[in-house]
Amino acid sequence: PTIRELLARGGRSFSFEFLPPKSEQGVRNLWRAVRELESLQPTFVSVTYGAGGGTRDTTVDIVERIATETTLTPVAHFTAVNHSQAELRNLIGRFASVGVRNILALRGDPPGDPMGEWVKHPDGIEYADELVRMIRSYGDFCVGVAAFPYKHPRSRTIEDDTRHFVAKCRAGADYAITQMFFRAEDYFRLRDRVAAAGCDIPIIPGIMPVTRLSTIERSEQLSGAPFPDEVRKRFEAVADDPEAVRRLGVQHAAEVCQELLDQDAPGIHFITFNKSTATREVYGLLDGDRYGASGSVPPMTA
Ligand code: FAD
Repeated sequence: PTIRELLARGGRSFSFEFLPPKSEQGVRNLWRAVRELESLQPTFVSVTYGAGGGTRDTTVDIVERIATETTLTPVAHFTAVNHSQAELRNLIGRFASVGVRNILALRGDPPGDPMGEWVKHPDGIEYADELVRMIRSYGDFCVGVAAFPYKHPRSRTIEDDTRHFVAKCRAGADYAITQMFFRAEDYFRLRDRVAAAGCDIPIIPGIMPVTRLSTIERSEQLSGAPFPDEVRKRFEAVADDPEAVRRLGVQHAAEVCQELLDQDAPGIHFITFNKSTATREVYGLLDGDRYGASGSVPPMTA
């Protein structure tokens, strides 16, 4: 099924994001996490796409294995970095040939320094909306795009960011997944400004449970998502107890998810880093009776 169809069934979408592994041990960790999270019957799982070669083939291989060997619906992340239009078309064909019809279309960042100068491939594309159009021109693909609660770091203003996001919707995006964020209200602001600009595609919040203090700083750098002071203080109070930090991270992520779901977010997309424990714990803390984490309303399944 396509993500468009799954989202249209009503209910909430629960999904998990994986990374292509870089070592043998990494391969084992990935498949263990996939199997452990499969039992939660997520709506879909997604696999990221490497910035410059290397992991790119692996993304295709992993989504193919997920499609053929598990009960899960895979979404392939796909970026335009360093690809000519002919290569992009070729790769879209490969996704189709391994039975993957769901693609998250991204412009991507320059390899090496993500904030370095963006140089388009001479025969490539400049912005994600062109990739959305290209994939949709094949007919039966379902296309997701990225959304940024704090605006994309390259966008001059929030207004520009919103305009460019809406251009991706107009190009044919079916839904969006957000960059990680740590306060529900930041998601609601994004949703409100996109709706005010006349765009109503489902925007799925991207959530990463903080399990170590060092991830707070790293995720702030990567995402531009400011970590709220009051929550940082709660973490700092237990800084010398790693297990307490982890528990607090799970608790905090669950609180944010609950607030999002209570105010009609279409679901939650968990960034897992190929580990299942924190994600399963957060999921288990959600109000099962209402959202199917463990109660009467099952989450949507393929
Ligand atoms: P775009 O939508 O093209 O936007 C890029 C910038 O250009 C923005 O500032 C936008 O406002 C601006 N812009 C857009 N159109 C125009 C226009 N017409 N004129 C002027 N400016 C314009 N990266 C990876 O390498 N692999 C992954 O697997 C991956 N997965 C991701 C998953 C999610 C959920 C998210 C949120 C991000 C992911 N990224 C991934 C990172 C992403 O590739 C980068 O954030 C990238 O810099 C932006 O991609 P985009 O698709 O949003 O680009």
